[in-house]
Amino acid sequence: VLHLPFKRLVQKSKFKLKKCFIKNLTWLGVGGQASLFKPEDVKDVCDFVKYNEYVVIGAGSNIVGPEILTKPLVRLGRAFNYITIEGQKITAGAATLDAYVAKFAMENSLSGLEFLSVIPGTVGGAVAMNAGAYGAEISDLLVCIKAVNKFGEVIEISSKEIDFSYRSANLPKDLIIIGATFFVKESNSKEIKSKMISLLKLKQDSQPIQTKTCGSIFKNPPNQKAWQLIDQAGFRGFCIGGAQISEKHCNFLINNGNATSQDIQDLCFAVRDGVKSKLGIEMEFELVIL
Ligand SMILES: Cc1cc2nc3c(=O)[nH]c(=O)nc-3n(C[C@H](O)[C@H](O)[C@H](O)COP(=O)(O)OP(=O)(O)OC[C@H]3O[C@@H](n4cnc5c(N)ncnc54)[C@H](O)[C@@H]3O)c2cc1C
Repeated sequence: VLHLPFKRLVQKSKFKLKKCFIKNLTWLGVGGQASLFKPEDVKDVCDFVKYNEYVVIGAGSNIVGPEILTKPLVRLGRAFNYITIEGQKITAGAATLDAYVAKFAMENSLSGLEFLSVIPGTVGGAVAMNAGAYGAEISDLLVCIKAVNKFGEVIEISSKEIDFSYRSANLPKDLIIIGATFFVKESNSKEIKSKMISLLKLKQDSQPIQTKTCGSIFKNPPNQKAWQLIDQAGFRGFCIGGAQISEKHCNFLINNGNATSQDIQDLCFAVRDGVKSKLGIEMEFELVIL
């Protein structure tokens, strides 16, 4: 009979972990070395979670990577990149890009997911963050998710069982979403396409989406706009090292090319504390500092 810690070691060694740099796996482009596990299929996910602690990432569009991460990263690959359709229900693997899901729905004259065309992440990340834009969010259309829990069991969770709020799904941190089903409405693909084009224009005109960034830094406090508070507190264009508050949209930060993870974090905390001391308003992070 194997002693449990030894059994764990033996189990761990059968998983192929690759060396990676977090900066290469995230939009913001900061973060040091880590190990990466890319499961080939659902069984791989189930086996891995039973014996390891981990951090799951999608497209890394909402993540500030640390210089050191001791837990391995789990990033779902090809087997989780698919879309199927059944009547008015679209099911997508968690690694599928949001933009592909939006395009697929448009091509099939199904409406509701247009906003996903302007969110640069994966389906897993969109559910975990309750991603949304221009008045719509994932929880409006989600029917259910399939996920792997920390015991390595595949479970289905109905949308009604998830405690969604603004940019949060309140799911356990160690739950790995592997797929999601959305309910969509029949519509006209031309209308859907023109809506997607106008959303993209709004986005391009108001946010620094062509730069190394990570989406909104803070959630909007109730009845307030985070960008206005940051602007009022005098932080538009504010820099620490290579990290800067965008001139174009104050609730976005930019890596000017040589920012370190520390620069980004120092900037985020300086702005949060500055808004609190100057305006008395507490802001909550939307971006995920790993
Ligand atoms: C230019 C730009 C514009 C953006 N605009 C918007 C916007 O309009 N609206 C909006 O809501 N967001 C926006 N974002 C933020 C970001 O794109 C979303 O939060 C997106 O949903 C994150 O998806 P991701 O796959 O990149 O997740 P990641 O950034 O990799 O991870 C985000 C969180 O989700 C978790 N996660 C990821 N995959 C899984 C999974 N399979 N199972 C469980 N948990 C998982 C991670 O652990 C992490 O906590 C923007 C970002 C950028 C860079």
